[in-house]
Order: sequence, then C-alpha cells, then structure tokens
Amino acid sequence: DLGSSLRGTLDTLRGKSRISEEDVDEVVKEIQRSLLQADVEVSLVMDLSDSIKERSLEEEPPGGTTARDHVLRIVYEELVDLVGESTDLPLESQTILLAGLQGSGKTTSAAKMAWWFSKKGLRPAVIQTDTFRPGAYDQAKQMCERAEVEFYGDPDEDDPVKIARDGLDATEDADVHIVDTAGRHALEDDLIDEIEDIDRAVDPDRSLLVLDAAIGQGAKDQARQFEDSIGIDGVIISKLDGTAKGGGALTAVNETGSTIAFLGTGETVQDIERFEPSGFISRLLGMGDLKQLSERVERAMEESMVEDDEEWDPEDMLKGEFTLKDMRRQMQAMNNMGPLDQVMDMIPGMGGGIMDQLPDDAMDVTQDRLRHFEVVMDSMTEEELENPRGIGASQVRRIAKGSGQDEETVRELLQQHKMMAQTMKQFQGMGDGDMQRMMKK
Ligand code: GDP
Ligand code: MG
Repeated sequence: DLGSSLRGTLDTLRGKSRISEEDVDEVVKEIQRSLLQADVEVSLVMDLSDSIKERSLEEEPPGGTTARDHVLRIVYEELVDLVGESTDLPLESQTILLAGLQGSGKTTSAAKMAWWFSKKGLRPAVIQTDTFRPGAYDQAKQMCERAEVEFYGDPDEDDPVKIARDGLDATEDADVHIVDTAGRHALEDDLIDEIEDIDRAVDPDRSLLVLDAAIGQGAKDQARQFEDSIGIDGVIISKLDGTAKGGGALTAVNETGSTIAFLGTGETVQDIERFEPSGFISRLLGMGDLKQLSERVERAMEESMVEDDEEWDPEDMLKGEFTLKDMRRQMQAMNNMGPLDQVMDMIPGMGGGIMDQLPDDAMDVTQDRLRHFEVVMDSMTEEELENPRGIGASQVRRIAKGSGQDEETVRELLQQHKMMAQTMKQFQGMGDGDMQRMMKK
C-alpha cells in the first residue's frame, strides 16, 4: 500500500546525514501519489510538493538530526498546513447551521454532533427544517431519539424558515441548537435561496458544510456557492468509514478559507470524531501516526539495544505471528519508548481506553523479569524464537540449563509470550471502525 511505500522511501534516508535533491524528489513523489489517490486537488498537491522540496533542501537540519528526521518534520509541518487545524468549537451555547447537498450526511451529522455535545455536558437540540425530502422528519426524529437528544420538527409545516424560528423558540432551554437543512441533488438556485432565508432567520454562530468523503473536485463549486451565500466556518467530512479518504474536502477548506470540524465514521450516532490534523494526515497517507510514530520510533531505534539490523515498528506487531523475537524487540524498545500502552496510543484507532480492557498483567514485565527473560532468550535457537509454541518440556530443560535460569522462568517467559500474542491477536483483523466502536462502549 501507499503508506508503506512512503515509509520505505523515508527509511532509505535513515542512514544519511545529508539529503540530496533526488532523495527529496523520491519522497515528494510518494506523497503526491498518496494524496492524489486520496482525491486531494492537483494544485494543492503541487504547492505542497514545492514547499517540501524547497524547505528540505534550503533549511539546515538541526545538529544531530538525520536526513530522514529532517524531511519527516518538514513533510509533517507542510501537511498540517495543508489540512489545517480543527475548527474552533467552544463548549458553550451556540447555534450551528448545517449546509450541503442531499445525501451528503447533514441529518446524520446533526444527530451525531448533538450526541457529541451532550457527551460534553451541554444540552443540544436538533431542528429539522427539511420540507423537501419525504421522510426527512421521521429520519431526523429517529436519529435524535437514538442520540437521546432533543428534537424539533413539524411534518405539517412546509415553510422551512417558519420551522427554524418555531424550533428555536420551542427548544430555547437547550444550549446548542443544530439546524439541519434540506439539500438538493445538485446546486440549484432554490436551494441557495432557501438556505439564505434560514441563515437570516436563525443567525447562526457557525455554518458548517457537510461533504461526503467521496466528493472529488465537485467540492470546489459547492464550497464557493455556500461560502458566497451563507459563509462557511467549517467542514464536516462524512462517510470516512468507506474507502474514500476525504481529500476532496480539502478543496472546500481551501476555497472557503475554513477548517475541518468533524469527521463522520459510520452510520450510528456515536460514529463521529473531532477533526485532528495528525490522525487525518495518517489517514490520507495511509500510514500510522506520522508525527509521533516517526519521532518516537526513530529515537527508540537509534538508542535501542537491538543488535540485529531488522527494522521494527509497533505496527508490525499487529501483522502476522507474534514471535519471541517480536517480544524481545518490544521489551527492548520499551526502555526507550515507554510502555507498550503508550506505543499503542500512537497507532490510529488503538488509542483511548483500549489498553484498559486487557488483563492487567498482559503487558506488565518488570525490569528484573526482563533481564532474566533476556538471558533465557539468548539460550534459545533461532527456530525456538520464531516458533515458541513448539517448545516442549525437554527444550525447556535445555534452555534453563543453558541460561542458568530455572525452568520456572523459562515457562514464565513462554506464558508471558502467549499472553502478549493473544493480546496482539485481538488487535489483528480489527479495522479502525471496530476500534472506534469498541472505544465508545
Ligand atoms: P442528508 O441528505 O445530507 O441529510 O444526508 P443523510 O444524513 O440522510 O445521509 C445520507 C446517507 O448517508 C444515509 O444513508 C446515512 O446513513 C449515510 N451516512 C451519513 N453519514 C455517514 C457516515 O459517516 N458513514 C456512513 N457509512 N454512512 C453515512
Ligand atoms: Mg437530511
């Protein structure tokens, strides 16, 4: 995949202290490929490429920094510049107006945001003004019931502006008013007229444009029209749980001079994330948390006592069989990187409370035990390290003797490995979506 080829390219810079133009071109080419595949507009990609090239070659890397670190940092900074910070959303009373075409995800996002605000301790209400789409009232009402938030709509009224006004009155005890609107299949004058009228009636603190992650270059016209008519303060990208990476939405961000507020990652009301640059960048490039992973893994690798030259990456533990070699590397890296649960936090979708759900001692290896385990592993054969499950009683005896440890320690090590391997198994095959869901429960 693209992320790993970018990672591979960056890794070729690992040993170099000076960076050549060809090196930078190679990195930039990989990034371009990833971003274009993620629907980021060509002109944005080109601007970004130019900045990365220029800075990588002109800026002097700080002392002790490798060429790889230097480029990684610049790439990261430029990408943050491209995607922007998240839309400022103070946790206070406010009115938010949602705009977007039909099917973009407005109603779903309205309920999700209401759920999100309610979890932050505020009292939200959703006001449904869509009189255009049959069933809009029922859909919004049901979603708000699921989100357990206040809802206002009027299926018998056909003036959206009146519904909006009545809705604000009827829900005046709420802190956050989220006004959902109707869309159309395409940009049409009556849609723009309608949303302008609603905009005047509710006088929102923020207007957010909802865009399907799969939107490509169509984002530009939409963004411009909505920006000209009501002014866009932020973007919500919906349906990021699909294959689309949402790069098209960056066009809208650029066009409106706004930022991204939320990401929609599923059909249920809890499937919402506050936008956060580094996670989104990782998603765009299809690689793990570029910022932290690069910083910390790099540092750990350099300081690591790992003798062999094999590369090790926390994400690798989630693929394939977890061997004793992996466990040893992980134990060694822990010295430099911090505990495994923090390392896990750096992998998208692995953060939050995931580690809390594991048995308490699954990751707990004390320094003392670590040292004993090291000695034990030194007495194992390559085959035993690769395939610890195949180690029988006679081998345990031999290893114990060879390492000067008792058999109990050898068995403890094998037990510890088994526990960790099981833990890794739990993570394997889990998509990001599963992780998000698990975290919210
Ligand atoms: P609206 O016409 O702009 O109000 O769009 P809706 O909120 O009705 O959403 C249109 C369709 O997209 C519905 O079938 C939603 O369930 C679906 N949808 C919205 N957001 C998401 C999302 O984040 N993930 C997925 N998988 N589906 C979504
Ligand atoms: Mg709707």
